[in-house]
Amino acid sequence: MNLFVANWKMNMQRAGARAYAEELGRRIGERALSVELSIAPPLTALDAVRDPRGRWSLAGQNVSSETEGAYTGEVSARQLADAGCRYVIVGHSERRRIFGEDGKVLAAKLAQVRAARLTPIYCVGETQDERTRGLSTATLTRQAETLHGDPPDLQLVVAYEPVWAIGTGNVATPDDCAAAGQHLRGLLSNRRDLRLLYGGSVTPENAGAMLKNAGIDGFLVGGASLSVSSFAAIAGLP
Ligand code: PEP
Repeated sequence: MNLFVANWKMNMQRAGARAYAEELGRRIGERALSVELSIAPPLTALDAVRDPRGRWSLAGQNVSSETEGAYTGEVSARQLADAGCRYVIVGHSERRRIFGEDGKVLAAKLAQVRAARLTPIYCVGETQDERTRGLSTATLTRQAETLHGDPPDLQLVVAYEPVWAIGTGNVATPDDCAAAGQHLRGLLSNRRDLRLLYGGSVTPENAGAMLKNAGIDGFLVGGASLSVSSFAAIAGLP
């Protein structure tokens, strides 16, 4: 089933989050969904977004590489599970670039996520500079190496998010995305349950062509997910 994940990043207060969840619930109503939805709100809004009827799941945007203890400001995988999360985003380019998260830290985070029985949404993607220098596939190969210690029989979501496409309005073409996806699926051919998402300036206008032609299983949506009508349209809901 295709998966649509809303990554709100550091946006939204609790009242807005509650209103968003109510509106999303109204749009879905009693309908049995043929897609899977997940929302990654800020930690402060996890409670406000939770759907008692389970029509969408919750996702963490980040997680500590440590289990518990004196790590002020961090949140553990176990705490995210306790708060009702099903997924955790690991290795988002903003975490890699702004907070210096490297393969070693991300492998430790993945291990924490698995220990808490959560499913990672592992992000990969090349920068504009890497793309210009013809290093796109080499970058994906290097970033996928972080998954080597991750048990191949467990469900895995990988989000191909070219850094040059995130928040820029420069969406990748379906062909770009298909080529990256083919490379990633080849690298991860030992995985039993792999879903490949695309992320980067997805909108209701470009989502359809991408879903049809890029060989993906859904989207990780940033900016456009802050509007319930945009997120719903991207996911094909009314
Ligand atoms: C993201 O940050 O994961 C993302 C895909 O952002 P946007 O949709 O705003 O490009």
